[in-house]
Amino acid sequence: MISAKLAPFGTTIFSEMTRLANAHGAINLAQGFPDFDGPPAMIDAAARALHDGHNQYTRSMGHPKLVEAIRRFIERTYGLAYDPETEIAVTSGCTEAIATSLIGLLNPGETVLLFEPFYDSYPASVAMAGATARYVTLRHPDFALDESALARVWDASVRVVLVNNPHNPSGKVFTRAELELVANFARRHDTIVVSDEVYENLTYDGAPHNPIASLPDMRKRTLTLSSAGKTFSCTGWKVGWVTGPASLVAATQAAHQFTTFCTPPAFQIAVAAALDAADAAFLATYRAEYTARRDFLLAALQASGFCPIRPRGTYFILADYSALSHDDDLTFARRLVTEIGVAAVPPSVFYAADKTEGRRLLRFAFCKRPETLDAAAERLNKLRLTQ
Ligand code: GLN
Repeated sequence: MISAKLAPFGTTIFSEMTRLANAHGAINLAQGFPDFDGPPAMIDAAARALHDGHNQYTRSMGHPKLVEAIRRFIERTYGLAYDPETEIAVTSGCTEAIATSLIGLLNPGETVLLFEPFYDSYPASVAMAGATARYVTLRHPDFALDESALARVWDASVRVVLVNNPHNPSGKVFTRAELELVANFARRHDTIVVSDEVYENLTYDGAPHNPIASLPDMRKRTLTLSSAGKTFSCTGWKVGWVTGPASLVAATQAAHQFTTFCTPPAFQIAVAAALDAADAAFLATYRAEYTARRDFLLAALQASGFCPIRPRGTYFILADYSALSHDDDLTFARRLVTEIGVAAVPPSVFYAADKTEGRRLLRFAFCKRPETLDAAAERLNKLRLTQ
């Protein structure tokens, strides 16, 4: 009974792999969620807000405390100013922001440019908006942006380009030059940029996060999407937001008001407190902890016979398993769960135009406690022995 629009997308790989991991008692390095809690003060603030009666609808565009805290965070981190009344809207997670932004911006039949590999909700959201996707493939192992590939598909008929930086699943952080390239095309063809920056605080080795909205002349055409889930380890709270010029934010809001209407106010109030507490010291500790997790899993994958790509951002590692198996990624991911007891994501599901690109890779999430990563390393080591 699923509409022709959505039937092709089936069940998201994240639900599938988590179900499979649970069914086989595997360690879940597939779906990207931390197996630890965020700041205790934030959790206390949510509990307090629930007891203090913040249990009814709140302002559809976001609780006043949260939109103010988002404004402050963006201003002190990037020097970008947004009006909390009209230029910031809160959504139920970034995934809702992606869907409602595309539904709100696009007319049926219009064209959206996507980079592959992509987060799997992108093409589904394009379909929900009744629009059509065009693809540019970022190729393994460096996932660099190729100007001639962009030029082949980007013309004046592209209404929206959806950018993800830092990039899931590759761990790529777009260089300044790559962002300039995207900005140049967007200016030339008058394209709206929807920029999913949920991993904005997770960059490594000194890689800076540059919001594309901060490039010359880009603020007026860019809708920036982010969320609390990654930065404050609360992916289940589903608190996300969009920032941009009022005309673009109004498009997201036009759809948001008729989908979730508002996001649970107690969680918004708690995230507001967490954002205000997220000073340079908090973010430095957060990055340092994730750098240690990344380095541990990189070494463990290498020791087990994988050839991992060192991510400069996100909490994912793509690893080439050609030395271990000739299976395709779906088969190998399934075997890893059932025979080794570790779940990872087969990334060919993140490609539409050139599925062969993802075939020899698996995506591992390292947003896990040291003991979880230790146990995963031990299990992965068995791969070596079974060769
Ligand atoms: N973004 C997360 C990931 O890539 C998953 C989000 C989800 O499961 N809805 O793992």
